Amino acid sequence: MTNDPSRYGASPQAQPPLPFADTAFEPVISARTFGFHHGKHHKGYFDTLAKLVAGTPHAGATLETVILATHDDAAQTAIFNNAAQCWNHNFYWSSLSPTMQTPNGALAAAITRDFGSIDDLKMALAEASIARFGTGWGWLVRDGDTLKVVSTDDAHVPITAGQMPLLTIDVWEHAYYLDYQNRRADHVHALVRGHLNWGFAEAQFARA
Ligand code: MN
Repeated sequence: MTNDPSRYGASPQAQPPLPFADTAFEPVISARTFGFHHGKHHKGYFDTLAKLVAGTPHAGATLETVILATHDDAAQTAIFNNAAQCWNHNFYWSSLSPTMQTPNGALAAAITRDFGSIDDLKMALAEASIARFGTGWGWLVRDGDTLKVVSTDDAHVPITAGQMPLLTIDVWEHAYYLDYQNRRADHVHALVRGHLNWGFAEAQFARA
């Protein structure tokens, strides 16, 4: 079965602005962190990707198309890494909420079914994110009809395994080091406790 990139979205190779004010998460994520994270790191992935794809069939393709076309080709690792990091960070900004939210409706029912409770899911997501050795991402995904918590290393993204991401947490050190230094666990627990965008997760959950 082919893994259709349009299933996951149609993201252009252009960096979107942050969907909130850069001060909206103080002190869990400072404006200074967003300045570097969105303004330097995320922008850098788009800038590098533009150079790598210029004059290739990937120019002008959606990020989802580039990711699925390159993830299993060692000759295209640099393109994959940069396209995936563009996509992962788009998804990360969407996964964050300045205000406390809780899961509702069909997603809440699926969480209770697959994890026991929302608190149990939050614990599993935090633990998977904290335990990722080195750089990477913690994810809540829908895999077929089942919700799962997974983590990926470096730029890797669950869509290459056919899993639908619902939420992600960035555990590269640049995501938290200015605010929390080595205390990754404290940062992740603060995000999971009060700053995940469950409305976004519900919209992802409802995707065909
Ligand atoms: Mn990052």
